[in-house]
Amino acid sequence: MATREAEIASCLPGELRTWPDGRDRPAGVDAVRLVYRHAGAPPQFDEATVLGAVQRAARAWAGCGIAAEVLGEAAATLPGAPPVLVQWNEAEARGNFALTDLGARRLSLNAAMFKLLAQRNPGHPAAQTLQMALSHEMGHFFGLMAHSRRCIDVMSYYDSGHGEVCSTRDGASPKAVVEYRALLPTACDIARCRAVNGRAR
Ligand SMILES: [Zn+2]
Repeated sequence: MATREAEIASCLPGELRTWPDGRDRPAGVDAVRLVYRHAGAPPQFDEATVLGAVQRAARAWAGCGIAAEVLGEAAATLPGAPPVLVQWNEAEARGNFALTDLGARRLSLNAAMFKLLAQRNPGHPAAQTLQMALSHEMGHFFGLMAHSRRCIDVMSYYDSGHGEVCSTRDGASPKAVVEYRALLPTACDIARCRAVNGRAR
């Protein structure tokens, strides 16, 4: 797995490639503030586990040069730009593990999908799927709209939907491991985020 680790840690020239499925733009805020609401979570995750995953993703994305803060719910009522609400809402997640509504500033997690995962594949580390989904969706709030063609990136899509497949540095198939994608933003995710937000490298 040395290749995966090297891909996470470094972003080589030419590796910032995206699928033509969105247009990156600056985040438009000086800080991304998030609030986590535990109501409706599936039984396999306690509040500290999910909150910890939200905090890890936020800390990693702060490498983009935009502050990321996880607030308590009481702080969410303070004046100013409303924070992103990270919530369990199956309807808004629409069949995904997680889905973002940028306009409404909501990141919805899907309890039904995680319950299904636990039933069908109890040996699978669901906390990793949770971390990856949170990291990915959070990236959209930092302005990353297009999905990466580099399999390892937390912002990647494995295929284009039209037969094209994401790339790995050594050319190996991403299907060689159950989940090739990183759990937290990689060097290329952060480099793209810094570029679109006008942060020097
Ligand atoms: Zn996405």
